[in-house]
Amino acid sequence: MNEDDSDCDNEDGSDSYVLNPHDKQLLAAAQSLLVKVARAPSLHPAQLVSVAKLQHALARLPHANPDLEVHVSVVGPRHTFDDIETYHYWDVTLECGTLRLASGGHFYRPSSGGDSFTTMTWEAQPGEESDLSDYSANLWMVPDLRTYVDGVASVDFSTGGYSIEVTDSDNALLEEMEDEEEGDEDDESGDEEEATTGRIEFTVTPVDASEAAVAKQINEAEVHSHQPDYAHGATACDFCQCQLNTRGLYVDGMAREGMMWANMCVPCFNVRGAGLGWGKGQLYARQPNGDWRMVAGFRSPDDTPEF
Ligand SMILES: [Zn+2]
Repeated sequence: MNEDDSDCDNEDGSDSYVLNPHDKQLLAAAQSLLVKVARAPSLHPAQLVSVAKLQHALARLPHANPDLEVHVSVVGPRHTFDDIETYHYWDVTLECGTLRLASGGHFYRPSSGGDSFTTMTWEAQPGEESDLSDYSANLWMVPDLRTYVDGVASVDFSTGGYSIEVTDSDNALLEEMEDEEEGDEDDESGDEEEATTGRIEFTVTPVDASEAAVAKQINEAEVHSHQPDYAHGATACDFCQCQLNTRGLYVDGMAREGMMWANMCVPCFNVRGAGLGWGKGQLYARQPNGDWRMVAGFRSPDDTPEF
């Protein structure tokens, strides 16, 4: 792991960024985002190491840091506006001297489906003027669109629903963290599990009686008859706003009223959900590493396509 780990191929050039007042405003926002990330209760100590590297690099501006490759992304909670559901992300990336900030998100409406969007990208290289692309004028359909600065100011990890992603090829602790989270069924190599076993075990751990009752609908053989399918991005129940990572199961499905799709904790699903099944709802079980695996509501061969 400790051979020449830096993949950066740097030419000898200028070692300082050329920053205008607006650049400095964006970078100040990026710094405040990293301060919040560093204090976030969900941040793993292994991730903090890489966040601190980025903080160090930003603190040294306008001097360039040519050898770091660190990416930090914050994904915000989902918000609904009538039938529209959105969430936003904010990125800070340093890649071999190139500094990048970006924001964007995802927009979903039952009538038109989902789409991801980019709100802004900003990039700076040492010795050159920065490059800013602002797409907000085209994003009139996004009800809670904000500038990078305002969006970062709105980030509040104490309200929950956020997720943090940190990548840093020079941080071996991140790999250890992921290995631990993946659990260790076998200790040899991590990347053989899909190729050779063909069957990835899953767990169902109900946290209350309502979940235990719904769990009875799970057919283990049926789960194994499908390719493992995982849900991404769901953090809170759309109805009661409870944090799904405190639950053992949740349903991504249609609500009885309004025909809207929603993420539902099991108690809310029992009151408002239309049921489990293809075109109605999928049940996901939280795995020990935090992944959500589909365990019921599969498409069966005699289901007609709904879409
Ligand atoms: Zn709920």
